[in-house]
Amino acid sequence: MSEPSGSGTIRFLDLRASYLELKEEIDEAVARVLQSGWYLLGKELEAFECEFAAYTESRHCAGVANGLEGLVLSLKALGVGPGDEVIVPSNTYIATWLAVSQAGATPVPVEPIPGVWNLDPDRIEAALTPRTKVILPVHLYGQPADLAPILGLARKHGLRVLEDAAQAHGARYGGKRIGAHGDLVSWSFYPGKNLGCFGDGGAVTTDDPVLVDRIRTLRNYGSRVKYQNDIKGHNSRLDELQAAVLRVKLKHLDTWNGRRVSIAKRYLEGFAGHAAIGLPKVIAGVAPAWHLFVIDVPSRDPLRAALEARGVETLIHYPVPPHLSEAFAHDQAWGEFSIAEQAAQTHLSLPMGPHLSAEAVARVTESVLRALSSL
Ligand SMILES: *Cc1c(COP(=O)(O)O)cnc(C)c1O
Repeated sequence: MSEPSGSGTIRFLDLRASYLELKEEIDEAVARVLQSGWYLLGKELEAFECEFAAYTESRHCAGVANGLEGLVLSLKALGVGPGDEVIVPSNTYIATWLAVSQAGATPVPVEPIPGVWNLDPDRIEAALTPRTKVILPVHLYGQPADLAPILGLARKHGLRVLEDAAQAHGARYGGKRIGAHGDLVSWSFYPGKNLGCFGDGGAVTTDDPVLVDRIRTLRNYGSRVKYQNDIKGHNSRLDELQAAVLRVKLKHLDTWNGRRVSIAKRYLEGFAGHAAIGLPKVIAGVAPAWHLFVIDVPSRDPLRAALEARGVETLIHYPVPPHLSEAFAHDQAWGEFSIAEQAAQTHLSLPMGPHLSAEAVARVTESVLRALSSL
């Protein structure tokens, strides 16, 4: 499974290796569900919800269909609708913005702190209006956003906080896991996330019993009792097969995140002192989950091509900021979000994952340094 140091392509992420490491346990879990004859809203989901709530140090968890739905149902549970505004990062995966639109509200972008790439708390107040209902920080690339000042602003202005934790399974803020710092926390189990299933999946965690009850109702046609529909709900459930797989993988998440931490440490050491490479800055008091290792280089595109020629696969998160995407460009004159626009030009994600060998990391590091010195 480990890459030979001199040859062969180094893949960005090897999902098959993740399956193979846990094959016996996963095959057993899948067979158990198939044999049970019960495929939705059953024992596996209930058990996973308990286990994931415990893992995230939150009181409640509700499984949903995917991460986007986790965000949409959360916004609806918080009473967000037409006419409302939600503070979102200018640099995020477009799902964060789409969720706000799907709830009928308007995303109001705020720029990140360069190097940290999370919502800059000092820029939030200027973006608030009487219509603002929610602040929606994203724990981008696996590093928690600076939640203390964000929660402070929310208290001061009577706002709710919804965290997009799709990239932050296992991360900690102030010693406590991401899971219930804000009012609601939305998760994705898309296959490539730190905790991923074999298809789509998601969840919402919270300490609030009223909010989790609303999410459970919204995810199941707006119904608490069959054929009794209290609100206009969604069909947005985490199925038994995915829940059973996630229960297996959750037991290994800390070990796998530990490997990500080691890889990040090797990259940081390998690139230290190289002025041409902007490295991720970790703020005090957080433990990132290192979903991605993103470097910031002005010569991003030629570097990416040179790495590809050397057999190193990289990705770009994200090449188009949401406000410049076709989907949002026509809504309104947004003005400029120069930090997000610049990041889209200079960010490069290096191979990262629990099955990337030390030899492969060394080869990536060496390839980046060689390629940069010859550009
Ligand atoms: C992956 C992701 C989502 C969406 O999750 P899906 O399960 O793919 O719907 C939302 N926000 C962020 C930041 C993500 O990375």
